[in-house]
Amino acid sequence: MTNMVITVDGPSGAGKGTLCHALAAELGFDFLDSGAIYRILALAAQQENIALDNEEQLAELARRLDVKFELVGSEIEVILNGQNVGDLIRTAQAGQNASKIAIFPNVRKALLQRQRDFRSERGLIADGRDMGTIVFPEAEIKFFLDASAEERAKRRVKQLQEKGFNANFDEILAEIKERDFRDRNREVAPLIPAKDALILDSTYLSIDEVIQKALDHIRQYR
Ligand code: C5P
Repeated sequence: MTNMVITVDGPSGAGKGTLCHALAAELGFDFLDSGAIYRILALAAQQENIALDNEEQLAELARRLDVKFELVGSEIEVILNGQNVGDLIRTAQAGQNASKIAIFPNVRKALLQRQRDFRSERGLIADGRDMGTIVFPEAEIKFFLDASAEERAKRRVKQLQEKGFNANFDEILAEIKERDFRDRNREVAPLIPAKDALILDSTYLSIDEVIQKALDHIRQYR
């Protein structure tokens, strides 16, 4: 079972992060949040005044990006050039910026090995858009976690309201649809389920039910 990879792909807001954290904790595996890498690259580009449509400079930046993921307690801290950027990369704008630079083939190529290096003896849960199709096509177990755009927007509104923020359903739905469109229609590594992925639709399932279904599937394999 060493070096095993389990991939979890799907659109934003479907619950991938929660599912991945639960699986990593249950199985004692490491966790790769590949979306964070795209978010960090977009942030680093802005800090260096590199335009988000300048593919060559973005790819060059991707090759020399100084980023570390450090486990502090149960939280993973994201360190860019020595600075904790966890909060800066979690905004809706950071997600949109990430999806704008993620369309470029040379940027994706520059980040490929960096992601593959997360493979570990303990096993890896890899969260993203192309984990099962491009980054780890040989992964033993693959999931594709989906949910309707409306349901994802509803959950996001609830999350924001619980944190005391104002949230407008229509604006959030439009943002989700815009990012989905970019991710699903780009020419390289578009968001699609791998042929051998188990598709889980969380529209009418609670996150606990999704986790249970995923664990049942993994137990069958093991
Ligand atoms: O998963 P997260 O929302 O953090 O990802 C941010 C953006 O990064 C996505 O909308 C997508 O455009 C891009 N991404 C990608 N490939 C991945 C992970 C994320 O293109 N494996």
